[in-house]
Amino acid sequence: MGSRFDAYFFFMLLLSVAAAVLPVRHIMFEYRLADVAERLIDHDNIDVHCQSYFDNLYNLGWAGFVTRGSAKITLDVRTCNDLREYLDHPAQANPYELYSVHVLTHETMHVAKIYNEIKADCSAFQRNHRTAKLLGVPEGIANTNAIMIHRYRSPRSSYYSA
Ligand SMILES: [Zn+2]
Repeated sequence: MGSRFDAYFFFMLLLSVAAAVLPVRHIMFEYRLADVAERLIDHDNIDVHCQSYFDNLYNLGWAGFVTRGSAKITLDVRTCNDLREYLDHPAQANPYELYSVHVLTHETMHVAKIYNEIKADCSAFQRNHRTAKLLGVPEGIANTNAIMIHRYRSPRSSYYSA
């Protein structure tokens, strides 16, 4: 009889830890985003759900959405991936990564019961620097990011007339 803690045991242990790490990281990231949204609008119970590629089949192309009256923010898989990338290098963020910050802020405005898209977007522009700071980005970079978001986003937004 071999030891109870043989190579097979350690192999299975390693496999189960590896299988647990990704979902735990995913959940921790959702908690982190929810905490940012809560602090941004001084709200207690916001949920953030990052969609999987499978969920993504049903989201009709939105970067994020909030059902009217709910405190649950659903973010597209690309939005969450871009947010992760953004947090790896906020000073060198590309327009997609910057836009993901705006999406989180914009959806948080819907939780704050601003349902008019133009007002939600405008309110988000005024708070993107705070979202970035709450995500842990240094103030100077957060402020520059917010200005860049406005520069990239406002001329292209479908929410505004010429
Ligand atoms: Zn919206």
